[in-house]
Amino acid sequence: MIPTLLEIFQQEYRELRPRPPLPEFHVEFYRFANVNNTIRLRDGRILARVSDLLETAPEPVLRAIAHILVAKLYRKPIAPGQAARYRQYVASHHLSAKVHLIRQMRGRKRIASPQGEVYNLEDIFDELNRRFFHGLLGRPLMTWSQDHARNNLGHFDPAHNTIVVSRIFDRKNVPRFVLEYLVYHEMLHLKYPVKLRGMRRCVHGAEFQAEEKLFPRLEQAKQILKKL
Ligand SMILES: [Zn+2]
Repeated sequence: MIPTLLEIFQQEYRELRPRPPLPEFHVEFYRFANVNNTIRLRDGRILARVSDLLETAPEPVLRAIAHILVAKLYRKPIAPGQAARYRQYVASHHLSAKVHLIRQMRGRKRIASPQGEVYNLEDIFDELNRRFFHGLLGRPLMTWSQDHARNNLGHFDPAHNTIVVSRIFDRKNVPRFVLEYLVYHEMLHLKYPVKLRGMRRCVHGAEFQAEEKLFPRLEQAKQILKKL
């Protein structure tokens, strides 16, 4: 039997406080904009919120969070093993990438959308899909970034099947083929998926590079990108 989040909290409470009667708990997974977990005591009830990004975390990690929160609430020392288990899980690449994207998508007021002021990313995807991929690529979620990031022009997030393009390209003075090149590049990431290793985000294998060269005006697009 897999214990519920409530049972995990009750058990961890018992570990830390064997004698007092078990208080009433209200425990839930909650949509924070970040990996965040909170606990407080109100009218004798324990209210705990665990980030919904941890909903799929293995049981020992959830135990670690419950332990840390209950220990914090009662000012008890946190077991080093539990702290380490939780830290390791959160620091794992998969989760940090997820946090990054979700923060982008739900942390800001503007809702993620393929429709910009000038360009529609879904239209661009569909057209490139016809021109270069025989319409064979499944369209992922296409969205403009929420900010005008220059350090991250575009990226494909396989965990969320999403292509994000920096909003700096949603301008009239950005030629369409330059934006097309960016989207084409991300579509190649879709076509040639890679296992994420460490912090390397962008892996361009031989096949990837060969196919990228098929893009007309590739060099011109790259030159313009440098100047933007
Ligand atoms: Zn790349």
